[in-house]
Amino acid sequence: MEFGRKALIRATQSEQLVPKFWYNILPDLPKQLPPPRLPDGSIPPKEMFERLFPKALVEQEMSMERYIAIPDEVRDTLVSLGRPTPLFRAKRLEKYLNTKARIYYKYEGVLPAGSHKINTAVAQAYYNSKQGVERLATETGAGQWGSALSLAARLFSLKARVYMVKSSYFQKPYRRILMEIYGAEVIPSPSNRTKFGSSLLEKDPNNPGSLGIAISEAIEDVLSDERARYSLGSVLNHVLLHQTIIGLEAKEQLKELGEEFPDYVIGCVGGGSNYSGLAYPFVYEKLKRNLNTKFIAVEPKACPSLTRGKYIYDYGDTAGITPLLKMYTVGHRYRVPPIHAGGLRYHGDAPTLCLLVDEKIVDAVAYHQTEVFEAARLFSSVEGIVPAPESAHAVKAAIDIARNSKDEKVILFNLSGHGLLDLQGYSEYLDGKLQDYEPSEIDLSYIPRI
Ligand SMILES: *Cc1c(COP(=O)(O)O)cnc(C)c1O
Repeated sequence: MEFGRKALIRATQSEQLVPKFWYNILPDLPKQLPPPRLPDGSIPPKEMFERLFPKALVEQEMSMERYIAIPDEVRDTLVSLGRPTPLFRAKRLEKYLNTKARIYYKYEGVLPAGSHKINTAVAQAYYNSKQGVERLATETGAGQWGSALSLAARLFSLKARVYMVKSSYFQKPYRRILMEIYGAEVIPSPSNRTKFGSSLLEKDPNNPGSLGIAISEAIEDVLSDERARYSLGSVLNHVLLHQTIIGLEAKEQLKELGEEFPDYVIGCVGGGSNYSGLAYPFVYEKLKRNLNTKFIAVEPKACPSLTRGKYIYDYGDTAGITPLLKMYTVGHRYRVPPIHAGGLRYHGDAPTLCLLVDEKIVDAVAYHQTEVFEAARLFSSVEGIVPAPESAHAVKAAIDIARNSKDEKVILFNLSGHGLLDLQGYSEYLDGKLQDYEPSEIDLSYIPRI
């Protein structure tokens, strides 16, 4: 029997732990963030963003205030949905690994749509409803973002239309059903609802779709209806801002468990929102107090933007209709191999996170999916929770670090979602049928240089 601080394995989940402010990293970055640009190098006018997003979110996107108040209604809604989320110590995993490291994880999978994405979905739905917007349009791949936004829209009496990548719409029906339960209209993309979608279907009626195509359709949809606005589930500054609620809670919860500060902060990266959400409040402390905490962003080898991409301006979508963002990118036309971690199949990453990687404040590592599922299976079998294939990348990195850790290191990682709707990947892993993919060819020559 152990007594004292090391016996604590779960932090409390008192409502008071939910912060009243989001943390905005923009004023604390070591360099000024390069702004979005149009292909001719000019900075897009604010009105362009305001046609797509409500004004309050455009403000947040550019704000230089370190702390931004969370509206009571947003905070109350998040509390009613289950925040604060638990912070666990993975004691059985530590024992299994026979490590001196102490491993903690923040578990976002307890939230209704099964991942962290509801944190920003609620905030976005709130600001849209305040502005009198009637309908939200968005895209979704496997459906984590679409289901979170569908729920949030329903809670704030907005209509939601979700363009879902057609191959997922038919092959992964469960999250589509979840979206429909929440009252959203889900459209397989490419569709006949938009000119862009129709043009693709004319060429190939069996086009399986992609996230880039779905983004283009959702934007075209919004531009043709003044009462509608567009919603994005990652990458943008305001999305990362809303996710800092994760790290702000975790900071308090770690203290409660007697830990001063983690030595490692780890998370998987698709567009960068769950990782930044956990890490940025700790990055702030690191920079302020000159700590030597290690920040590790984990990505799939099949879509290696941070580890193999270039730090240049690139479009946010495949069709090239958004402004360009300075980010690590493998190119917006990159053919992402069909790995199970659908949420990590994005060609770029959040600009603030890329800046921190470029400044060597955050390190990046990449793994193949078989080793990731192997780690996730081990984690599930000792800890009980089945990680989402995306989150499993963070699990793999945490296990590797704990295995190699000779002394008492404190490891914190984000378990961004559960994998109970992604069991197909686990099934292939168990049957020995899971395939690894080398990265596709990285060609950046077609991207306008600005
Ligand atoms: C969408 C998703 C991700 C990847 O997106 P980020 O913006 O990088 O967080 C990771 N984990 C889960 C569970 C997701 O649903």
